[in-house]
This record gives sequence, C-alpha cells and structure tokens, in this order.
Amino acid sequence: MESNESIGNNNFFDGTFLSHFERQQPSPPSVIVIGGGISGIAAARALRNASFKVVLLESRDRLGGRIHTDYTFGCPVDMGASWLHGVCNENSLAPLIRCLGLPLYRTSGDNSVLYDHDLESYVLFDMAGYQVPQTLVIEVGEIFKRILQETEKVRDENSRDMSVLDAITIVLGRNPDLRQQGLAHEVLQWYICRMEAWFAVDADMISLKNWDQEQVLSGGHGLMVQGYHPVIQALAKDIDIRLNHRVTKISDWVNGVMLTVEDGRSFVADAVIVTVPHGVLKANLIEFKPKLPGWKVDAISDLGVGNENKIALRFDTVFWPNVEFLGIVAPTSYACGYFLNLHKATGQPVLVYMAAGRFAYDIEKLSDKEAANFVMLQLKKMFPDATEPIKYLVSRWGTDRDSLGSYSFDLVGKPADLYEKLQAPVGNIFFGGEAVSMDHSGSVHGAYTAGLQAAEDCQRHLLEGLGNMELLKLVSLRDETVETMVPLQISRI
Ligand SMILES: Cc1cc2nc3c(=O)[nH]c(=O)nc-3n(C[C@H](O)[C@H](O)[C@H](O)COP(=O)(O)OP(=O)(O)OC[C@H]3O[C@@H](n4cnc5c(N)ncnc54)[C@H](O)[C@@H]3O)c2cc1C
Repeated sequence: MESNESIGNNNFFDGTFLSHFERQQPSPPSVIVIGGGISGIAAARALRNASFKVVLLESRDRLGGRIHTDYTFGCPVDMGASWLHGVCNENSLAPLIRCLGLPLYRTSGDNSVLYDHDLESYVLFDMAGYQVPQTLVIEVGEIFKRILQETEKVRDENSRDMSVLDAITIVLGRNPDLRQQGLAHEVLQWYICRMEAWFAVDADMISLKNWDQEQVLSGGHGLMVQGYHPVIQALAKDIDIRLNHRVTKISDWVNGVMLTVEDGRSFVADAVIVTVPHGVLKANLIEFKPKLPGWKVDAISDLGVGNENKIALRFDTVFWPNVEFLGIVAPTSYACGYFLNLHKATGQPVLVYMAAGRFAYDIEKLSDKEAANFVMLQLKKMFPDATEPIKYLVSRWGTDRDSLGSYSFDLVGKPADLYEKLQAPVGNIFFGGEAVSMDHSGSVHGAYTAGLQAAEDCQRHLLEGLGNMELLKLVSLRDETVETMVPLQISRI
C-alpha cells in the first residue's frame, strides 16, 4: 500500500497494498482511513473485523485526536473530551465503556437542560470575590429559562433564522420585566457563557432555529473518571496504524484512490474514509483531485466549527469548596468564567478552567505561562489565599493544524439537508467524523457512530462493486461490541 517510488510508473514495491481491482487473485478490498480519532479508529476496526484490508493514517504522533488524556499530573486529565453525554444504554459507546469497566462520575441527571449541568453544585463569585447568593443564582436561572421560552415566539414569527443573541435582545426589548440589573445581570451573563460553552461559540453565532433541536440522550452527563484514553486504546488494538502520516492529497486512481502524505509517499486502496476534523476540511488542508463537487464544498462551508480550550491546574492541596463548578460572573458573557473541580470526581487536587468561542481563541494568543497566570488571577479573586499550581496544561484546539477548532456547530441559516450532504460519499471517498453525525455532532459518541456508519456504507459500496456479495460475508459492523449485563459504573460523590 505504501510507495516511495515514482507514481508515474505505478511501480509500487513488493508487499504493497494493491487495489483489489488490480489483483488477479480474489483478495479482500482495501480501505485507507484518514484520522486516528475515535471516528477513524471505529471505522478501521469495523472494516478489519469484516476482513477488509485496512490501514489508518494519522498525522499526529499520537492517537485519539480531540480525545487527549494527559498523564503528566500523575493522574488522567482530559484536555479534549471528558464527558459521556447521555449515560444510558442507547448511547452507542455505553457497551464498550461497560465492557472496559470504566467508571463515570455523573455531574447531572435527566433534569439538566441542554446547555447546562445541574445547579446545586455551583458556587458563583463576582469579580470582587463575593459569593453570589444561591437564591439569586436560582432566580436568574428561572428568568433565563423564561427568556429562552420567549425566543421561541421570535422563532415562530420569523421564517429567516437569526442568532440566539439577537433573539434575546428582541425578547428583552419586549419584556422589560425580564431585563436584569447589577449582580442579577452578571448572573444572566454567566448563564449565557455556559450556553456558549456547550456550543463552543459566542451567542451571536448560535442558530435560533437549531440550538435546541438536538436529540439529547437520557441519563445526564457522566465524566470519564479515568479519562477517555482507555476507550481509544481498546478500539485501536491490532489495527495497522501509521502515525506521523499527514495526508495532503486524495486523487482518483484506477478504480480506487491514491493518497499522498506530507513527505511525498503515496498509498493506494479501493476506497478511503476521511475522518479528519471539519476545521481541516474547511481550511482546504487536503487537496482533492478531481475537486470535490460543488454541493460537497458548499456543505463543508455551511457547517461551523467552534473553539473550546482547557487550562488544567494541579495544586499541592485543595483550597476550594467541594462543588463541581466554581464560576465567576461578570458584566459580559465573555468575561465570565468557570472551573470544573476534578477533585470531586477523581480525588485529585486539579481544577480545569474552560474557555469557549472568541475567548478560547484569545487564550491561544497567550503563552502557557500567561494563560495559567490569567486563570490564577480569576481564582485568587475567589480565594485570595489560593496557592500557586505545581503544574499546568493549556490546550490550543483552535490553532492546532490537526484540529482547527474543538467541534462543529450549526451556523445561523443552516440548510435543512446539510448533514445528508456532509455524510454522502463522493465516488470511493467516504466521510466520517463528529461533524457528519446527523443526531449527535460535536460529541464522542456521535463521532463513533459516524465512523461505524461510514464503514458500513464503504463496505456495502465495495462489495456491490465487486458484484459478488459472497466473497466476503456482509457482516453487521455494529455487532462487534460485546453486550454485557454489567451496568455502567456511575457514582456521585
Ligand atoms: C475541549 C474539548 C472538549 C470536548 N468535550 C467533549 C465532551 O465532554 N464530550 C463529548 O462527547 N465530546 C466532547 N468534545 C468533542 C469530541 O472530542 C469530538 O467530537 C470527537 O472526539 C471527535 O472525534 P473525531 O474522530 O471525529 O475527530 P478527531 O478526534 O479530531 O480525529 C481526527 C484525526 O484526524 C487527524 N488528522 C487531521 N488532519 C489529518 C491529515 N491531514 N492526515 C491524517 N490525519 C489527520 C487528527 O490528528 C485527529 O487525530 C470535546 C472536544 C474538545 C476539543
């Protein structure tokens, strides 16, 4: 499958992975999967189990993509995904997590709203370091719900989509009783900040038509106490994976595809599954030859990519209260902030500050030290006696050329058939990744399912092309994960 030879000669060296259609002897079809995140690994695993020849090309020197569990604190800290959204049997990842015996810490149950986790475990402070009375937090939370309900009327009145922020402005203009002043206004901004964190984008970019259309799975949100990495490790077992292979070009080749990697080497196969992040496709970092059709190019540009970053701090000792979130309220949602208290879930003295949208991009303009200092200033407002962290980590998902954003979101005015187009193959090129997930984009389980779906579509296409469905048994690619009666391990300390 790999060649250092001139492509013009079609002279691939021995042992290479020739296109199935080139071979004289019947042999399994070959597929190259691009991207070693959960979607690509799931696709590769499924095809390998169905006896296809599979190679996975990953640009980084590690697997996992936007799942990145860091162990330098002496304990697992997820700098990318950390929650299983929907702790229930319907979650496609539940059987695997169950089988691996990975514990979850539930931060909220079924009663949580889409953009938020439950209220009882917050402590909020203002910029001067005073704790916001819990009654005010709850009161403003109710007002925020009413504001959002009123935006539904605005949605019904307007056939054209608009941003959630524009709709909120209209609602507040019409309903003076919902406008907040002083500290209550700052708490309202904090709720907006939490909503922005869910979509990884500012409220002026969240689509009014689509923000609440997601089918949220039941069971609430569960933190992966040991990090997400064990899931990647288990799925990647026995797959032919080539790290440090950044694909730069995908070209038509005989009845298959040819891929070129950064150092000039090329690979051929019967089909390819592309699972690189949507930000990478939007930035045209991979050249398609011939060019992708217009409908595909438009679909790629019609889906947005947001940004979220984490700044993790490890301390000697715990000096903060035993709640799940510590928040700072401020006059604008941009200036609000919050920390996830990992001590509550894992027992480790670790806080993780999260920044989303434009703020997340601004964080990336700072050095790691400056970012940690900025976060410590926030923490010291809440706890003047806060000690300095002994270690810190800063993510940079927005500018990392292998992600170019954290996860996708629906732009204002999204076309209705967008996801069908994003998922649709182009010849022998199939598309996976979180962004093509119709029901659960932006999530780990959505990416996983999208990978399985792409593998299934690719398998069907190749076997139909062979005209001999008997050659390989068409197995259901989703049967692989063993169902067990062991329940998900969920705790709430
Ligand atoms: C900060 C943050 C927090 C998140 N929190 C959660 C959460 O709590 N729960 C949740 O469900 N989801 C969460 N997500 C989203 C979740 O991480 C993603 O939806 C999911 O991991 C995406 O998987 P993927 O396989 O589609 O993409 P990726 O994991 O990005 O995999 C794509 C792979 O392609 C590789 N690649 C890129 N370019 C090339 C190239 N040219 N050639 C070869 N390889 C290439 C990349 O290096 C990467 O490994 C979060 C994401 C971020 C960033």
